[in-house]
Amino acid sequence: MTDPERLSVTIVDGYVDEPAHFGVPPYVSTYPRYTAGALVDAGVPRERITYHTIDGLRDEPDRWRDVDEADLMIYLGGMTVPGKYVGGTPAEPDEVRKLAWTANGTSLMGGPVKFGVGDENAGATETERQDLDFDFVAKGDVEAAVHDLVESGLEGFNNRMRDVDEVSRWAREGAFIVEQHPNHPDYLIAELETSRGCAYRCSFCTEPLYGNPEFRPAPTVVGEVDALSDHGVRHFRLGRQADILAYGGDGEAPNPDALRQLYSGIREVAPDLETLHLDNMNPITIVEWPEKSREGIRIIAEHNTPGDTAAFGLESADPVVQEENNLNVTAEECFEAVKIVNEEAGWRPGEDPGDGPTFGDDAPRRLPKLLPGINLLHGLKGEREETYERNMDFLQRVYDEGYMLRRVNIRQVMSFDGTDMSDTGAEIAKEHKKLFKSYKSRVREEIDNPMLERVAPPGTVLPDVHLEYHQDGKTFGRQLGTYPLLVGIPGERELGRTIDVAVVDHGYRSVTGVPYPLDINAASMDELTAIPGVGDRTAGDIVVNRPYDLEDGDADADADAASALGIDTETEAGVDLSRFVTARAGEWAD
Ligand code: SF4
Repeated sequence: MTDPERLSVTIVDGYVDEPAHFGVPPYVSTYPRYTAGALVDAGVPRERITYHTIDGLRDEPDRWRDVDEADLMIYLGGMTVPGKYVGGTPAEPDEVRKLAWTANGTSLMGGPVKFGVGDENAGATETERQDLDFDFVAKGDVEAAVHDLVESGLEGFNNRMRDVDEVSRWAREGAFIVEQHPNHPDYLIAELETSRGCAYRCSFCTEPLYGNPEFRPAPTVVGEVDALSDHGVRHFRLGRQADILAYGGDGEAPNPDALRQLYSGIREVAPDLETLHLDNMNPITIVEWPEKSREGIRIIAEHNTPGDTAAFGLESADPVVQEENNLNVTAEECFEAVKIVNEEAGWRPGEDPGDGPTFGDDAPRRLPKLLPGINLLHGLKGEREETYERNMDFLQRVYDEGYMLRRVNIRQVMSFDGTDMSDTGAEIAKEHKKLFKSYKSRVREEIDNPMLERVAPPGTVLPDVHLEYHQDGKTFGRQLGTYPLLVGIPGERELGRTIDVAVVDHGYRSVTGVPYPLDINAASMDELTAIPGVGDRTAGDIVVNRPYDLEDGDADADADAASALGIDTETEAGVDLSRFVTARAGEWAD
């Protein structure tokens, strides 16, 4: 029964969400893919490997039979970043325990550095077995454990990390598993790893636990994209690394040639890809090597898809906090990095690279190619009241000097064992709770809202918004990508579909949009009045005077649709209605 060729294996994905590794749908993390590849490499035939997400098991209880009957059941999960998710609900500890109990064969649990199902349940009294009742727990890389376990005839394994050769092979060989993901193929984005480890040692971060950075050579990442693309994946995020700009270099300085090889290689093997985004760029790399960084950023903006975000871990603009926590970038340096990314990548499709940053009336109505995001962390050692003011000042300066940020992410610190923060814990965060709350509202109102208006002014078109849920009579959805904007659309539309949307209004972190182009013969009152400057009366007039018939029926000719229909094109808000509407011939039109 332990002959790999005859082994049946079920992989259950309870989802991971690490600081540099997303795995809650619509993302699929590297873990199930690498694990499947390691199984194949160890001799298990592909057709004997079944993959379920925890949501898939919840939706169809019959699937539990695969957990029950497999010779080997592998659970993948763990959370180091808590959060709310629209796309899926991570496995609860009780579910994880049930998986182990249900499995008749050998069971193995593995995943990120700290398990969400971990400490508080360890040694639970109702169970005889330890480790949440799993036979094995992988304390190193789960894919290496799986490989060695199968090779040993399910006897055991030594905890170890996998090497670059293994991961390159496994990544490619395991790509087939994505076809079994419930979101496949349309609403799925594959998280890609380019490196692990970091050259720096920030007090709160788990990444240095992997040591100094080790890069996957470009051909191996490209090969993985090729394989994923063969299995129907069209959305990719280069998210699993501490600093994309450092890719393929000495660990710190950029290597534009390696970046070019990576990005152009991906475009070559997946010419039809629809999303190519990234996560994590270290601002210190940009200020220390500005010319090489500018080149690297230009390469990224040339190959990525619009709306991409380079998250900068400024964490604090207060020098005292920076000093005490070993943070590696000052507010001044971070500002310089913001400026450089704006200049090199803040252009929009339809413009010449290098035109950025562009906004205002003349800018094309598409999202910029790549903008910085700012991560701020509170509750760090040395934090004081002044810290909050310093952070506000930094953000205000970026706005006042005419630059763009795609998002400001404010979090409170979590302390993990093994990091320097574990002694301080969450004490400061708790003490400053009130301060934190009011500051957060100020950032939302004074920075996020005007910034979003600059980044995505009314009329900005967001292609392929996936409709995800209904709330308060509206439909909410997002594009696939790194930190996508949440879009609210008037009315309850069919979920699971994808539509193009034009932005009409801004919240703090989300936008309101109407379907684009909005068919003036079919638009609802809610949709019409969502357009800036269109009140109930104008919308009522539009509806009463239907149907409208544009002679050529050509959407491109609709730039003047609004005025042709007798609608005041320059509304009070100064917004040109022709940015939003078209008139499609209805069945009743002549
Ligand atoms: S620069 Fe600091 S926060 Fe970023 S990955 Fe490295 S250690 Fe972590």
